[in-house]
Amino acid sequence: MNKRNFLRTGLFVTAASLFKPRNLWAESPLEQMDFNEEDQTPGPFTLPALAFATDALEPHFDKMTMEIHHDRHHNAYVTNLNKAVVGTPFATMSIEQVIANVTSKDPLIRNNGGGHFNHTLFWTLLSPQGGGTPSGNVGAAITAKFGSFDKFKEAFTTEATSRFGSGWAWLSVNSKGELFISSTPNQDNPLMSKIVKKPLGKPVLALDVWEHAYYLKYQNKRADYIKAFWNVLNWAEVEKRYNAAKA
Ligand code: MN
Repeated sequence: MNKRNFLRTGLFVTAASLFKPRNLWAESPLEQMDFNEEDQTPGPFTLPALAFATDALEPHFDKMTMEIHHDRHHNAYVTNLNKAVVGTPFATMSIEQVIANVTSKDPLIRNNGGGHFNHTLFWTLLSPQGGGTPSGNVGAAITAKFGSFDKFKEAFTTEATSRFGSGWAWLSVNSKGELFISSTPNQDNPLMSKIVKKPLGKPVLALDVWEHAYYLKYQNKRADYIKAFWNVLNWAEVEKRYNAAKA
């Protein structure tokens, strides 16, 4: 560990220990793994900038969580993905192609490619001007499929709350053009057709339910984090993705 990393790690440990008991970051080997890399390894994949300041989603998503989540966790997925693809056919693929082609035989690319893809999507779905109720085509489709926006929220919340351990909850469009709710473990997603058996589809809305997404502010109360999510959800982006998925 060089001096810079040592200082950063030291600062983080100090900050984290104010908020939580030791070792909670290490809830699983995956959670532990995604925390070790600080500097981005050069390669085909890069960390996208956030479209808003890290404190812009306060008080719903706090500044420190957004900083650590984007600058460290997402950065680590990019770094580890760049390392993992060296000398493989994945090195010349787009991240979308990586997701479509990865199998369970490539766990590093599955986890870090999924991590990069999922977080890149997630950031676009958050906005300081978010919240409210969906209108447009996706609003109509949600009402048609789930009965009402409130019933959709209830079903999505149940899926996100009951996903055991680390993972993601999704609203996606399937091959018939229908909306469906699902969840996946770790960094899998409904586009990983060689890994996720069913249901498969194009995600239009995503929620990260890893503890690193909410622990500093909400501790173990995932349900409170999910409630807060509705206040920062960028429905304009959901509408855009829905229309693209249906096209
Ligand atoms: Mn995350």
